Amino acid sequence: MTNLAVAGTGYVGLVAGVCFAEMGHHVTCVDIDEDKVNLLRDGISPIYETGLEELMRKNYAAGRIQYTTDYQAAYRAADAIFIGVGTPEQPDGSANLSYIATVARQIAESIEQDCLVVVKSTVPVGTNDKVEQFIRDFLVHDVKVEVASNPEFLAQGSAVHDTLHAERIIIGTESAWAEELLRRIYAPFQLPIVAVNRRSAEMIKYASNDFLALKISYMNDIANLCELVGADIQDVAQGMGYDPRIGNQFLNAGIGFGGSCFPKDTKALANLASQHGYELRTVQSAIRVNADQKTMLYKKASKRLITFNGLKVAVLGLTFKPGTDDLREAASLENVPLLLEQGAEVHAYDPVGAANFARLYPEGAHGKGSIRYVSDPEEALTEANVCFILTEWGEIRQLAPEAYHRLMRTPLVYDGRNLYEVAQMRDANVEYHSIGREPSL
Ligand code: NAD
Repeated sequence: MTNLAVAGTGYVGLVAGVCFAEMGHHVTCVDIDEDKVNLLRDGISPIYETGLEELMRKNYAAGRIQYTTDYQAAYRAADAIFIGVGTPEQPDGSANLSYIATVARQIAESIEQDCLVVVKSTVPVGTNDKVEQFIRDFLVHDVKVEVASNPEFLAQGSAVHDTLHAERIIIGTESAWAEELLRRIYAPFQLPIVAVNRRSAEMIKYASNDFLALKISYMNDIANLCELVGADIQDVAQGMGYDPRIGNQFLNAGIGFGGSCFPKDTKALANLASQHGYELRTVQSAIRVNADQKTMLYKKASKRLITFNGLKVAVLGLTFKPGTDDLREAASLENVPLLLEQGAEVHAYDPVGAANFARLYPEGAHGKGSIRYVSDPEEALTEANVCFILTEWGEIRQLAPEAYHRLMRTPLVYDGRNLYEVAQMRDANVEYHSIGREPSL
């Protein structure tokens, strides 16, 4: 058993802390947000992740995990401190490292024994070196401190599973002591460990995320061309996926990538490159394609309809993907404001993310338009003039094509997730526009 502290109880920090406890370590999770810590102490997860609360309760009852705002007490006697605070995007695209710097300072002022500081947050190459120097500069007690990189690869919506069954653990260290300690901490997970130096570990995270973003933008680019030349992107993707060099994962065309990682990590790497006088053209293209893709359906619908003014618009799905309550960089955040500006009466449905969206866009009038939240997708469709599908939640996928025809005033559907076969929608007499495929009518 090792004494671990985790800074930040967001998607990364909380899931890591709970999974470390599940593996038998003694874990103290630290957050500056008192409300979050109070919820956690009551066994309630502030984020929506399958299986998380169950593990929280089990390990809390076993005395292996605790939650606090008292960072000094948590860091003082920790063998290792994992940092999982945010590194959001700044206006110039670079990563904001101020939260990391605050934690580094708090660690320097608190630790009273030798300690390994492990950066889990996604940070630009070279940041670990700076964090190490920063902590050493501010150390209050005469102890040994080293920094290691251990980037996180979990996907929101399956975070617990991804952590317990990760394809690999990347550890970036500069000493045998640090590598050995991290190997020991991860030993109970029984997962493949890739040990590299710190800068390579930092780069593996960005290179992996940006490669996935490139894959998505590439498929979206090809999808847009498919529409122009009469090919079908689903068939194209299926045919491509048989080639093991390409692989059959992540080939879905859609309404663009969102979330807290791909958008910011593409911009941060492009920014890092430009700081070194290099233009990362592939990644820059992925960013540009994605920016256009987010409002592709809105633009298509705007051409088809004279106006959205006074139209009832069903919006199915608000989160950036299913399985999460996270709205960061979701397509809904670009499309709903456009619809409201144009005077649409939006009826929005999301099984998990509606409450978060309502904080940004409370129910009622917004300029010429208005928004209402409904608890059932069929209610959103009732009497609607047009429907936008933005997230592929199971509850939305389960709607039969006939439901759109039966419930909507005019069955006109713009699907950003290609949930239906075009032929099915055609047979149900629904005018159906999707991504990279011919329209139904
Ligand atoms: P998040 O915003 O959900 O959580 C960050 C938490 O840190 C918040 O609860 C905040 O209150 C807390 N915090 C801020 N300052 C603190 C301090 N001084 N001490 C203790 N807590 C503090 O962030 P996240 O989505 O978990 O992402 C964290 C990092 O991990 C980012 O760098 C992100 O790029 C990376 N990452 C995220 C994911 C993901 O799917 N969300 C996946 C891999 C990597």
